[in-house]
Amino acid sequence: MPSLTVDGARTRAAALSVQSYDVDLDLTQGERTFGSTTTIRFTASGTTTWLDVKPDELISVTLNGAPVDVAGLNDGRLELAGLQSDNELVVVASMLYSHDGEGLHRSVDAADGLAYTYGMSFLDAGPRIFACFDQPDLKAPYRMKVTARPEWLVLGNGAATQVSPGRWELAETPPLSTYFVTVVAGPYHQITDEHDGIALSVVARQSLKEPLEREAEDIFTVTKQSFDAYHRMFGYRYPFGEYHQAFVPEFNAGAMENPGCVTFRDSMVFRSAVTDAERGNRARTVVHEMAHQWFGDTVTMTWWNDLWLNESFAEYMAHRVSTDATDYTDNWIDFAFIRKWWGLQADQRSSTHPVAADPVKDALASLDDFDGISYAKGAAVLKQLAAYLGDDVFLAGVRAHIVSNEFGNATFGDLLAKWTEAGAVDLDNWAGAWLRTPGLDTISASRTATGIKLSRIAPTAYPASRPHKLTVGGYDAAGQATTVDVLLDADEVDVPLDPSVAVVIPDAGDDTWAKIRLDADSLANLPSVLPKIEDGVTRAVVLNSLRDSIADAELDPRLGFEVLIGMLPHETSDIAVGTMVGWANMHLLGFYLPYEPYRGHVAEALAARLGTAPAGSSLQLAVARGYVRFTDEVDVLRSWLNGGAPDGLAMDADLRWTVLLQLARLGAVGDADIDAELERDTSSEGVVHATRCRAALPAPEAKERAWTLIMTDPDVANYELYAACEGFWHPAQLELTAPYVDRYFAEIAGTEKLRSGWVVASSAKLAFPRYAVEQRIVERASDLVADDSVAAGIRRSVGDGVDDLKRALAVRSAFGN
Ligand SMILES: [Zn+2]
Repeated sequence: MPSLTVDGARTRAAALSVQSYDVDLDLTQGERTFGSTTTIRFTASGTTTWLDVKPDELISVTLNGAPVDVAGLNDGRLELAGLQSDNELVVVASMLYSHDGEGLHRSVDAADGLAYTYGMSFLDAGPRIFACFDQPDLKAPYRMKVTARPEWLVLGNGAATQVSPGRWELAETPPLSTYFVTVVAGPYHQITDEHDGIALSVVARQSLKEPLEREAEDIFTVTKQSFDAYHRMFGYRYPFGEYHQAFVPEFNAGAMENPGCVTFRDSMVFRSAVTDAERGNRARTVVHEMAHQWFGDTVTMTWWNDLWLNESFAEYMAHRVSTDATDYTDNWIDFAFIRKWWGLQADQRSSTHPVAADPVKDALASLDDFDGISYAKGAAVLKQLAAYLGDDVFLAGVRAHIVSNEFGNATFGDLLAKWTEAGAVDLDNWAGAWLRTPGLDTISASRTATGIKLSRIAPTAYPASRPHKLTVGGYDAAGQATTVDVLLDADEVDVPLDPSVAVVIPDAGDDTWAKIRLDADSLANLPSVLPKIEDGVTRAVVLNSLRDSIADAELDPRLGFEVLIGMLPHETSDIAVGTMVGWANMHLLGFYLPYEPYRGHVAEALAARLGTAPAGSSLQLAVARGYVRFTDEVDVLRSWLNGGAPDGLAMDADLRWTVLLQLARLGAVGDADIDAELERDTSSEGVVHATRCRAALPAPEAKERAWTLIMTDPDVANYELYAACEGFWHPAQLELTAPYVDRYFAEIAGTEKLRSGWVVASSAKLAFPRYAVEQRIVERASDLVADDSVAAGIRRSVGDGVDDLKRALAVRSAFGN
């Protein structure tokens, strides 16, 4: 299917102006398809254009009363000729429900057989729901009507009213882009509230009724606090009427910012115990999506190259506002450990790109850039910008941008102009270095006779002069800090800090975006000093520096392992524990270092920490999950399932599955045990867990079954597909899975024909044979990346996998592991 190019979009936007969409959906036509009738009123300056529509069957198209031949539909496009200055286009179609999370997704709950639907129009999936001119800068008001089963609830961008049993009419919306038009329909359970004149609700499947009732208050509280904060900050009232938050099944992303009706993945309605980090993540997601109501929805980028600005802005605001205005105050720790690490890796890959790309890619290819750079680097750079401009200038520019582009579209250049009007100077140079140039500087500290010298080195591939506002921390043997604020705007800057301190940490407050390197004395003192450093953000800066130095093959991974083992007995942050366990799992064990005996040491350290973690605490849960992942003590795991878990640890459905997954990996359970667990937990979540467990079994037939699902099943739902990929590879099963390494490269390209959109790249990434650390695989993967007949999303996933493999080979070769 051809994807819209920027030139095509510009031509159409110049020729058309859309007055309104009337969309009428009939969701009562069975399980496979739904009816979709769209009336578009628009003006045209020329006589031809094209319509976007991706139906199962295009039934009729009428332009200004005259029929258009539906046989002209070609690959989602229908050419229109004979346009007048004012036009009315009526399109009647039958559309397919989707199972890949895009278009109008339909999902049947395994727990009770109830069916649920929701619309996901992002990025180019709108035409799978209604006929439209699908590009972000052809905005128009929508009036939507929906026919559904009488017992269903219907929500959308405008306030929904049931006018007769099963018939709903939604209030006319302000002008919307096609990519955030949605409808949520099904027998959802709804809880309503109100704040400051805004009607609020949360909805989820009936089988999540109990957890939704439990969690609603927390979600509403964060929602209300965030509305107040944004109203104060932007001085512009939320313009979309009601505000519904729908927690929907099998959602690919974390959430989607549809105006008035945000959709979230429903794992955020916690049915089992979660860590504080997971609660904080949900709060941040709520705040993030709300930021988009202004930045993204009220003002929308003109073309997809500026999508970064939506995401960087929402990511920055999510951390800032949830820290300042809600009870969730550990967000910058989470940002440092998790989000930033994601972006730092992305910015060093061969696929790196500027935060602000030129408008050259087509719509679908723009999705590839929707990564750790667009989110985390962009947010870190906006944080630098707010510090560079001063917060008053930063916010004044943002306010002016919203007001002057209300319900319209804008580019990054328009926003720069607003910041300049607000008083920013020399912003073009700043933006050129930080936003238009990829890559990141390396910042290191060295000791002189009288102080500390801070050095900045730009990457040779992407030279630029980036000014960094940061703090440098000096720590004594007891972990006590002395910090100095520094503007690093030259290649070397002297810092007035006692050179005899035990540890020197550049960017101790995690304010900038750079590779941080510690000097040899600091590294030597680190194992004893790091556990005494109070500030969680600073500990994250150090861990990121270690992770990055090891990934660059500059530092022996055994030193990183030693620091990790030294930290675990003292670490009190569940975010930090979760990050260290994840790093050990994804990078250290079976990748940079052999799986054994290091696995055993991690398991021992976690078992010991489990003995000291407070019963019932979030920390206890994070440690327990880590222990389960690494232990080979089958008897202990079995006893946990049979009432012998540590005090305070709730053996709820999700933790039981986590234990069963490890037992499956160890070959201590089989299909019958997995079936028995599925009888205890008959939910859709249970089905996904069971799929992961089955793929993890160390038996040839189990691997073949999972592989067949991954590579050949066109109907598997997205979450089950991901679970099969996640369960498949494991460093303790290398021999068993060896035949599938080559099969991956032979078969993965074919999955593009089975599935579409987001799922294709995600499953290619998750199914990549990560633990096959061999030069031969680098070559095999590089050939696939160079083959332009393979889908771009698959090549991107494989390319990122190769980058990781090359690093692992370099680390192994440098340190002889
Ligand atoms: Zn977002």
